[in-house]
Amino acid sequence: MWFFLFILSLAVLTGLHFRYRKELAALHTRHLAEAEAAQRRQQQTALDAQMQQKVLFDSMLEGLLLLDRSRKIYLANRAFKNLFGVKTELRGKTVVEALRLHELDELLQRAETEKQVLDYEIKLPDLSERWLQVNAAAITNAAGEREGTILVFHDLTRLKQLERTREEFVANVSHELRTPLSLIKGYVETLLDGARDNPEVAERFLKIIERNANRLDLLIQDLLTISALESGRMKLELQPVDLKLLTEKVLTFLHTKAENKSVTLVNELPELTTNADANRLDQVITNLVDNAIKYGRAEGAVIVGGKKLDDGRLEIFVRDDGPGIPPEALDRVFERFYRVDKARSRDQGGTGLGLSIVKHIVHAHGGEVRCKSELGQGATFFFTLPAVLN
Ligand code: ADP
Repeated sequence: MWFFLFILSLAVLTGLHFRYRKELAALHTRHLAEAEAAQRRQQQTALDAQMQQKVLFDSMLEGLLLLDRSRKIYLANRAFKNLFGVKTELRGKTVVEALRLHELDELLQRAETEKQVLDYEIKLPDLSERWLQVNAAAITNAAGEREGTILVFHDLTRLKQLERTREEFVANVSHELRTPLSLIKGYVETLLDGARDNPEVAERFLKIIERNANRLDLLIQDLLTISALESGRMKLELQPVDLKLLTEKVLTFLHTKAENKSVTLVNELPELTTNADANRLDQVITNLVDNAIKYGRAEGAVIVGGKKLDDGRLEIFVRDDGPGIPPEALDRVFERFYRVDKARSRDQGGTGLGLSIVKHIVHAHGGEVRCKSELGQGATFFFTLPAVLN
């Protein structure tokens, strides 16, 4: 009996042992799997955070450089690499090794000692004429210890170019205004000094004064037009315009000027209608035909023509058979105050702004301008207009 009981409890205990061993093993495996999953989640979260940081830094327009405590690059974003044309890995390099810009090293030293964001402008030593604004600041931890440095780079090139264009414009305007003004002053003084007593001389001088006053007036009108066009203040009043009819009006207006030089004006335009500001378009055609008369040859011909292009746009041209424009000046004639021959332009009463105004008006209508010419073969100015109502 005792023996049976002993055998029975042994069997029960063995059964229990095997059962719990299995459960223990299963429990152990479960714990292990959970620990691994938690570790993977942690790694994934860290990876996600790193990825988000990279996406964020790479989406910045400014170049960003993070340096560690020993001034070695820890991170350079995409904009930074584009700005400096860097294709290699920069991590671990110093700024001087990566960029060869010793000025930046000095800026870094200052950023470490001066506890504020530093602002600095540098011109890149390559031939690209590029300017950068650099902001540098030390990164410190809660205890105030330096952990590294952050550098942010903004491309200032476009701003610098605009600044230079504005300065050149102001210089040009002053020069253009001063020339007729000093002539007017000079002749007035001569008249006051006694020249007025000679009626013939006085009349000649007064005519010169009148011509220069008119030039000033024209210049100021053109400047105001350019300023309104460039600032976008000039609103276009779009309406259907019959181009052939408009050109006819312009040619009638310039008829006397052409006749004085025995120039024949020809309107070859087919029936074309466009959606445009009639007054502005009048100004475009007037400026182009006026130039063609001024710079074309005496007894020559000026032709206005055009057609509808395959893509639906209209292309208008104004052609003369004068001396033409040298190739190096073809792209520049649309710049403000650019003249191939300064003296000739002034003699003809030019302001140097006519083609610039043409370009602005055509662009405001969504069109393009260009000029084709070969020396001695005349010049042809083209402009396109997008919308056609036929
Ligand atoms: P401007 O008041 O001097 O005529 P524009 O802007 O109208 O100013 O023209 C710029 C320059 O382009 C002119 O000074 C002239 O040198 C050149 N140009 C313009 N049209 C012609 C043309 N049809 N033939 C030759 N040169 C031209």
